[in-house]
Amino acid sequence: MSNRMIPSNIRQKVIIRDGIKCRKCGFDLLGYYSFDVHHIIPFATCQEHKIDNLITLCKFCHKHAHNEPDLNKWLNSDLFFLFNNHLVFSINFN
Ligand SMILES: [Zn+2]
Ligand SMILES: [Zn+2]
Repeated sequence: MSNRMIPSNIRQKVIIRDGIKCRKCGFDLLGYYSFDVHHIIPFATCQEHKIDNLITLCKFCHKHAHNEPDLNKWLNSDLFFLFNNHLVFSINFN
């Protein structure tokens, strides 16, 4: 039985990789109590917590993400893009 909860060390890596920002709208999540880490391929399908399949989202975008039939297209539609199915991101440690 796989656990749906994302282990905290994996969550942390995803959030840091994403620059502590929502990957859709760019909202800076630093100082907020909670981050949403979302599975690109739904957990029900993939049954694992791989960093490449996880993205940081704010609460607002996360709600939208679950209503999007094509998540990649939704992410691509704005500030975000995928290359070879891998997230392309920049990390800013300023
Ligand atoms: Zn957002
Ligand atoms: Zn989600």
